[in-house]
Amino acid sequence: CNPGGPGGGKAGVADGVSPVVVAGCQELVLNDGHIKQYMDAFLENVKRGLGKATNPSAIVKCFPTFVQDLPNGTETGKFLALDLGGSNFRVLLVELAGGESHMDSKIYVIPPSIMTGPGEDLFDFIAECLSDFAVTKGVNDQLLPLGFTFSFPLQQVGLTKGILERWTKGFNCAGVIGKDVVKLLEDALARRGDVKIDVCAVLNDTTGTLMSCAWKNRDCKIGLILGTGTNGCYLESQANAELFDEPDQGSGKVIINLESGAFGDDGALDFCRVEYDEIIDKRSINPGRQKHEKMISGMYLGDIVRLAALRFTKEGVMFGGKSSPLLETEDKFETRYVSEIESDLPGVYTNAKRICDELGLSHAIEQDYQNLKYICECVSKRAADLCSAMLAVLMNKMGEKKVVVGIDGTLYRNHPNISNWMKQKIAQLVNPGISFELMLSEDGSGRGAALVAAVAHRVKMENQG
Ligand code: BGC
Ligand code: MG
Repeated sequence: CNPGGPGGGKAGVADGVSPVVVAGCQELVLNDGHIKQYMDAFLENVKRGLGKATNPSAIVKCFPTFVQDLPNGTETGKFLALDLGGSNFRVLLVELAGGESHMDSKIYVIPPSIMTGPGEDLFDFIAECLSDFAVTKGVNDQLLPLGFTFSFPLQQVGLTKGILERWTKGFNCAGVIGKDVVKLLEDALARRGDVKIDVCAVLNDTTGTLMSCAWKNRDCKIGLILGTGTNGCYLESQANAELFDEPDQGSGKVIINLESGAFGDDGALDFCRVEYDEIIDKRSINPGRQKHEKMISGMYLGDIVRLAALRFTKEGVMFGGKSSPLLETEDKFETRYVSEIESDLPGVYTNAKRICDELGLSHAIEQDYQNLKYICECVSKRAADLCSAMLAVLMNKMGEKKVVVGIDGTLYRNHPNISNWMKQKIAQLVNPGISFELMLSEDGSGRGAALVAAVAHRVKMENQG
């Protein structure tokens, strides 16, 4: 148990945090018993996902990615990449040579109407961006290999074929679930007819992250995203991946896309979910789904904090009992605020004050900033603990002496404490003899897509020669 709150040190009261807030936030603090229960359940879920007989009813789907080989540094060539499913949609031109990469990219803002409109419109939009980019970069006349990072649950049928299982995060486009997204992209490009591409791979952002880190460090065997959404992947032996029936290309391994965001959808996390989690789930675009993700990722953390702050305000403990229209409005408390508030140096509340002002809470006093910061810490520490427990399960299951975890995502990058908290927590949870490292990925979804395409190309050439 961690009565001192997320810092684990002195009691929150010592920092001026109201004892009522400390007590009220206790439900967000995961004790050793919670972590143990989580780890047992998660391992059980992974085993069910991997097993042929149990997979159909499994919650954590453990999709084989068809990626068997890690990059070896000799990958060469020019690749296009698409990155859909993070905070931005991007088109990239990636050049690999001599273990170095050069990237040129453009961000395209996806209109909200497209994110929840007909699937055909989404793929027409993607095709239009790709064409615009190819023309701007003067590569529209070349037949370039393309890696498509599609960061949603895909049941892969091959490296270039993936069937959408469900939408997540803010997306919900009609007519895509159950279809091959590579085919939908190719159809949209055919409708335009102005740009040629050769789709070499469709992949998840976690796979791209693992690959881009493995390119620099061969010990990288786990990929994690802590961004708008959350998910993990890891290198599993083909013998354990019962759904993977392809010929072994030599490594004996295959990357498994866990789709860990869905963990808890059968109630497995109810023992540590709280009322805020329930509210957020109920009014989301996908109620009942992605419950693990909704406790962890950037799309939701800010709103968990907002709901807690609102509760303490209604109880008269914060903001003199006076809320504001913005504090009462869904999603107005952005997750970047959480990172900013926690980045304030001890005793200084510059960001907290600015954010309260922005939210129409300029009547806040110093104790409100202290309380708010404490809530932020509890909410983000809970997310970090859940991720740590998940990673420890994977490391213990893999049984490798040394594992590097490649990590990407806006939340992980911008948060001042999450990476340190995770290092400490994982160290407590892994079996003796395992050493690990957390490695920030340099643009996993972009460079990773090019690497997956390039490795596929290299292996094909080797098998021919
Ligand atoms: C998706 C995953 C993805 C993760 C991070 C989740 O919502 O289901 O496929 O890896 O977000 O982007
Ligand atoms: Mg991304």
